[in-house]
Amino acid sequence: MAFVDKARIRLHAGKGGDGAVSFHREKYVAAGGPDGGDGGRGGSVVFVPDDNMTTLMDFRYKRKYTAPDGANGQGKRCAGRDGEDLIVRVPRGTLIRDTESGALMHDMSDGLRYVAAKGGRGGWGNMHFATPTRQVPRFAKPGLPGELREVTLELKLLADVGLIGFPNVGKSTLLSVVSRAHPKIANYHFTTLFPNLGVVYVDEGTSFVMADIPGIIEGASEGAGLGHDFLRHIERCRLLVHVVDVSGVEGRNPVEDFRIINEELHRYQPELAGRPQIVAANKCDMISDDGEALQALRHEAEKLGFPVFEISAATHQGTEALVRHCAGMLSALPPMEPFEADYVPPEPVLEGAEDVRIEQTDGLWQLEGEWLKRVAATVNFSDYESRMFFDRILRKAGIFDRLEQMGIRDGDTVCIYDLMFDYRY
Ligand code: GDP
Ligand code: MG
Repeated sequence: MAFVDKARIRLHAGKGGDGAVSFHREKYVAAGGPDGGDGGRGGSVVFVPDDNMTTLMDFRYKRKYTAPDGANGQGKRCAGRDGEDLIVRVPRGTLIRDTESGALMHDMSDGLRYVAAKGGRGGWGNMHFATPTRQVPRFAKPGLPGELREVTLELKLLADVGLIGFPNVGKSTLLSVVSRAHPKIANYHFTTLFPNLGVVYVDEGTSFVMADIPGIIEGASEGAGLGHDFLRHIERCRLLVHVVDVSGVEGRNPVEDFRIINEELHRYQPELAGRPQIVAANKCDMISDDGEALQALRHEAEKLGFPVFEISAATHQGTEALVRHCAGMLSALPPMEPFEADYVPPEPVLEGAEDVRIEQTDGLWQLEGEWLKRVAATVNFSDYESRMFFDRILRKAGIFDRLEQMGIRDGDTVCIYDLMFDYRY
């Protein structure tokens, strides 16, 4: 079973329901007023982070995500029901990219829900169009289309805790002991350099993600070989567990090892070396001297303010206390900084704008057409910038020129789907 860390999917938000054309009917009232209700909003496709998910596996089998349409409006001013949002759960470390440009739309590690494809607004019923001079509006507006998006989900290693240390000090062993990391995770090969990742369950409702990040030494800070990539991952870790072999069986000097790794960190990124660190003095089951090396390491680490835990990953001694201390520190640390989105929605193309239909009745100018509908759907009319943008697009597309050629007058009303405004020169 391969580990999937990337998935391309298609999102289709629901279309807005159409507005209704209807007239109030009552006994003894000859011609009632228009009472056609508005269409409901289309459902949006919304991503929600889920801490219980660690892969994008599900997205391999289901690639299309469609939210329901809004219902049409009805008589008696009844609005159509909104389409329900489609909730799509993803692991918290998921990046959502625009497939075509590769630009980052959102980083789910901010822990918030993200509307990736917006449902279309419902169309207006004819009740909106009654005026003293226009008493029998026999028209309503169609709903706007929902957004259609091609996105690529990318699961970034998102570990709260990064394990650092020399090779063979016991990082992998520790991870497998404290987490449910399974050997299969070590074997996936979408990238052979992907570090191990495991979820550590501490108590009911308390868990964190720990990553084994090999290759930190040997010129890692110069970007040689695999080091650099891994360092990119630990940049986001909130806490580092520095594993040091204190057994002396391999002839290692714990204090020296500890210093070298920290110097590497510092060289790569000073800020990283200042990240909270816990020292796990490992292989305590095998200490060959009378504990001098351990004491020297303890002294060195505590000078820097790092707590030291004596453990044996092999016999599980002290691992529980270590894990609890990690959880305690994490709960007091600020959350991880999410990546900043750099996706800029493309400007609508003017191609197709010639098809805008313009109809005029009683000083009401109604504009319709597929191009216009798509553009209008992207505009947020409650936002000034967005309205100005829409105005510019219409101008560029020559719509205002056409209106003037057709004789629009100051103060006439222009209606573009659910936008209605008075025309001013
Ligand atoms: P890594 O390179 O840091 O990931 O180290 P590993 O987890 O692969 O461990 C390297 C070797 O040390 C393996 O043979 C482990 O069985 C052994 N080892 C790990 N932790 C302990 C420990 O606490 N005590 C002893 N005696 N051996 C250990
Ligand atoms: Mg290892």
